[in-house]
Amino acid sequence: MKRLLGLIRSCIIIRVERWPGNILYFWLIMSNELNRDDILSRVLSGGSLTGAEALHLYQTTPLPELMALGHQVRMFLHPDMEVTWQIDRNVNYSNVCVSGCAFCNFYRTRNHAQAYVLAAEDYDEKIRELFRLGGDQLLLQGGLHPTLGLEWFEELFRSLKQRYPALRLHALGPPEIHHLATREGMSYHDVLLRLRTAGLDSLPGAGAEILCDRVRGMISPAKCTSEQWLEVMRQAHRIGMPTSATMMFGHVETPEERVEHLMKIQRLQQERPAGSPGFLAFIPWPFQAAHTRLQRQYPDLVPPTAEDYLRLIAISRLVLNNVANIQASWLTVGPQTAQIALWAGANDLGSIMIEENVVSAAGSSNRMDAPGMQETIRKAGFVPRRRDQEYRYLPDPEPVL
Ligand code: SF4
Repeated sequence: MKRLLGLIRSCIIIRVERWPGNILYFWLIMSNELNRDDILSRVLSGGSLTGAEALHLYQTTPLPELMALGHQVRMFLHPDMEVTWQIDRNVNYSNVCVSGCAFCNFYRTRNHAQAYVLAAEDYDEKIRELFRLGGDQLLLQGGLHPTLGLEWFEELFRSLKQRYPALRLHALGPPEIHHLATREGMSYHDVLLRLRTAGLDSLPGAGAEILCDRVRGMISPAKCTSEQWLEVMRQAHRIGMPTSATMMFGHVETPEERVEHLMKIQRLQQERPAGSPGFLAFIPWPFQAAHTRLQRQYPDLVPPTAEDYLRLIAISRLVLNNVANIQASWLTVGPQTAQIALWAGANDLGSIMIEENVVSAAGSSNRMDAPGMQETIRKAGFVPRRRDQEYRYLPDPEPVL
């Protein structure tokens, strides 16, 4: 009987979803409860939540219950008590950017006294230290530089790969690919192919912020639109390039827009061609407000709480059941909240991030080395497993003397 009622309710939801949003929301409020058992069994059998269901769950489910749902999905997808982590190094090839995002303290204009572009030899000591610490990957990002073209990046990637053949490059992001494609008059597909030939291994999900153009117009109007961000990722998936997706939340967006962001990621992941890895991970992180122009523009902004973060981790795990990994961002929320997030749906703690410059420019002071990462995972009740960018297990690093 319970199953029958659940089925009837699901049918009503599907039909009502075609109605205008307000009527649907009213119906959901009146119905008070979605059947959480039905939702869980649908998610665990590979079915998708609708946007309306996700929003209702996100807004009305008590935190412990929402975390438990997220954790059940995590344990279904990763039925062990292991939490993965990584050693890589952030390198910002330049801080020159024409975008001027209101939340960014990192960028400089081209003629600013602190503007820089790294030279080829600047990478040597950074890469040697990375290898010494047991890592093999650079997360290579910068801004939207007005004069560095596609050939400059090809030359950089080739030269790094020639000098360090074991090095992996997780580099740039959709806004930079869009910027290069516009500058060169090329398609995203062709830019990505050229960069891959030069040595690009995987594409980070940088610059997603909130994939809703109302929000982007307020915080990063000169950056690519949400559809352009998604189209770059679509093209990366078509050529089989591994990617990740991110969300920077807790500023001018609404709960509805957070859910819209998740639904866009979910749908694009569904579209990926068979055999393409698509989005390997989803990494939400809260806006770091300190000293940003956005904070000055909106002095009443209330920073997200730990509960806000845990709710978002849990709903992400439920909506994105087609994305294998949810990463907790210890850098932005701190190790303790990240540990709790491992019980809300997250199964990965990201990288120790040697040399992080962008988030720390907006106030984050968290730091972690390899033993600290392993200890953080153990203390949360899980077994640490080191991985590479494609989530293949690696041996633990040798202790650094
Ligand atoms: S977030 Fe990126 S694109 Fe925006 S101003 Fe900073 S460096 Fe430029």
